[in-house]
Amino acid sequence: MQSQWRTLSSSRTINGDDSILPVLIVGAGPVGLTLSALLTKLGVKCAVLEKSGSFSKHPQAHFINNRSMEVFRKLDGLAEEIQRSQPPVDFWRKFIYYYDRVVSPVSVVHFSQYKLTRLLLKHLESLGFHVQCGEGLESLSGSKILMGHECISIDTRANSVNVTASFLKEGKYMKKDIQCGILVGTDGAGSTVRRLVGINMRGERNLQNLVSVHFLSQELGQYLMNERPGMLFFIFNTDAIGVLVAHDLDQGEFVLQMPFYPPQQKFEDFSSEVSVLAGVLFSCEILLEMCERLIYKLVGRNLADMDVIDIKPWVMHAEVVEKYVSCDSRVILAGDAAHRFPPAGGFGMNTGIQDVHNLAWKLASVVNGIAPPSILSTYEMERMPIANFNTALSLENFRAAMAVPAALGLDPTIANTVHQVINNTVGSILPSKVQRSILDGLFAIGRAQLSDFILNKNNPLGSSRLAEVRRIFEEGKSLQLQFPAEDLGFRYLRGAVVPDSDRMEEPNAPTGRRRDYVPSADPGSRLPHMCIRELSKPHSETFLKERCSFRIVGGILTQMFLQEMVSTLDLVSGDKVEFLLIIAPVESSYRLAQAAFEVAQDFNASMKVCVMWPDGTVDAVARSKAALTPWDNYIDVVEVRQSATLKSWWDLCQMTHRGAILVRPDEHIAWRVKSRVVDDFASEMKKVFSTALGFDSI
Ligand SMILES: Cc1cc2nc3c(=O)[nH]c(=O)nc-3n(C[C@H](O)[C@H](O)[C@H](O)COP(=O)(O)OP(=O)(O)OC[C@H]3O[C@@H](n4cnc5c(N)ncnc54)[C@H](O)[C@@H]3O)c2cc1C
Repeated sequence: MQSQWRTLSSSRTINGDDSILPVLIVGAGPVGLTLSALLTKLGVKCAVLEKSGSFSKHPQAHFINNRSMEVFRKLDGLAEEIQRSQPPVDFWRKFIYYYDRVVSPVSVVHFSQYKLTRLLLKHLESLGFHVQCGEGLESLSGSKILMGHECISIDTRANSVNVTASFLKEGKYMKKDIQCGILVGTDGAGSTVRRLVGINMRGERNLQNLVSVHFLSQELGQYLMNERPGMLFFIFNTDAIGVLVAHDLDQGEFVLQMPFYPPQQKFEDFSSEVSVLAGVLFSCEILLEMCERLIYKLVGRNLADMDVIDIKPWVMHAEVVEKYVSCDSRVILAGDAAHRFPPAGGFGMNTGIQDVHNLAWKLASVVNGIAPPSILSTYEMERMPIANFNTALSLENFRAAMAVPAALGLDPTIANTVHQVINNTVGSILPSKVQRSILDGLFAIGRAQLSDFILNKNNPLGSSRLAEVRRIFEEGKSLQLQFPAEDLGFRYLRGAVVPDSDRMEEPNAPTGRRRDYVPSADPGSRLPHMCIRELSKPHSETFLKERCSFRIVGGILTQMFLQEMVSTLDLVSGDKVEFLLIIAPVESSYRLAQAAFEVAQDFNASMKVCVMWPDGTVDAVARSKAALTPWDNYIDVVEVRQSATLKSWWDLCQMTHRGAILVRPDEHIAWRVKSRVVDDFASEMKKVFSTALGFDSI
């Protein structure tokens, strides 16, 4: 088994068989595309199958959190390009973290999913990828995105996976077999890969049916820009209810989400008359009418230029798969294929991007023969608890979002219950038209709660409802979009990490309330961010590259500093699987580093040492050189405290300078010792590398 896996290298092939691709990714959504970019940078050959003939232009996700942006930062300027391309921050400013540049070198952004897809594709092209329509992948050289190819069957064999893809050629469906070492299913919420390998999901299904209306209106954009700039608008009105997402106010691009109740209300009710005329999509009257009514309520006038581009139904679930890794570690799920949440809080795509960041270095380690396939089980051990947590958090947040309509006398859970009662009782005996008018009648009664007649301050019921809404907002108990503790502070308790002690504190259950991120160097946490400057090569181009996106922090730093400063996160390579050992310039820590270099070499793993000098150090090159020779993969850096109130590196990590931290290639901490490096360096480091590379998970 081990030997079969060990032959699965990006430069070699299984048993000399050139036809086997190391990694095949099914699904070219944001998660599949991010994985292909990360793998390619790590030198792993991969290709992507995408069933659609073109990329979706539906905006969907729009909130990219800090951690995802840090992942994109590893992709050669992609994060910076996203930041440059997003709508001006002033238009959605209420949702930005003001303090974030202290805790992360990069900011959250508001950027539509389809635009992100475009930038990911551009980045992949720069890495040598080709988007190919029609038949392809003959050479199996990887670096291809095969459009119009749907994965329809999977056959796992002793040392490979056979994937059958269906594609259209000259009007006929054809089939093609592709052999790969590992198949990653990033094929979205309705994942075929998940179904084909028989993995079930656990959680709550069918929480809400919605229609998403993607439309353009410069008039609405201008109005909101001048009067009420923002990102999300909740509209409650006597005729309909919806959430308006302003994807780009300047370009007048919006999505309106409206609930609907099948089978009494059908998607066709909204879209049956949608037709394509001269290449332009015209929507049916019902839908336009509902949209217009809602928008009218928001802006107080009809829009002359509303142009509906696309209408999509979608169902809200809160589910996570029972298994992430199956078929002897040859089939792996990531992104929506592994979890689907309510979009409240914007965790869906972000969690998927962070899944593949966790997975990419592990896949590369297996493919390159550094780690056994058992390391892949640590992907599930680490990511499944995060998905379960984020599902619960998104559910809490979804329920919090419902607090406002509930306070207005319009509880959507009651609407859902009414709907279920109709389905389960009269649904079986009454004709559907009658059911529908019962439902419409009941909902109209519900929405009447929002009429001016009730909701005015002279009506005792109305004024108490309005006071309740005020209270909800004042106490921050409505929908939250800022989850710093969960965005940057998520932590892996079990997997490719060595815990500090046998007792692991489980994270607190989500409350739906905002919690601040507290930097931590506990094993499993993301390495805290701190600004640092390289000492040994003060003007080195190699380390600095283009990574100083946080140069303008507070607008107060000098140009010289700006050129030389980077983040501690930049110490971790995005171009190869490399561990990072951070130590202070202390004799015992240098000896630990020497031992760690030797052990890493025995494991065939790459490791770099970072010697962290205290703020103000000017020259320290000679000392590290003398202490670390013959090893030369080290860097001397000095911490840069941007204000006197900020902590030193070791204080930030809640450690002393006699401690040490081993960081994994995904910037999560594999091991640390808080204050004193253990005596038997070599055996401690063997234990650490064995766990971090998954040898203990066999
Ligand atoms: C209204 C709404 C708002 C949202 N807002 C946010 C937000 O602000 N932030 C956030 O993080 N998330 C948000 N999300 C969630 C986000 O859109 C999803 O989590 C994200 O699309 C998941 O990406 P993915 O790559 O896993 O799957 P997908 O984007 O679904 O991509 C899967 C791809 O696989 C392809 N495919 C499917 N089956 C096959 C097959 N058999 N063979 C080949 N290809 C196949 C599909 O065509 C598709 O291109 C939102 C979702 C909705 C509905």
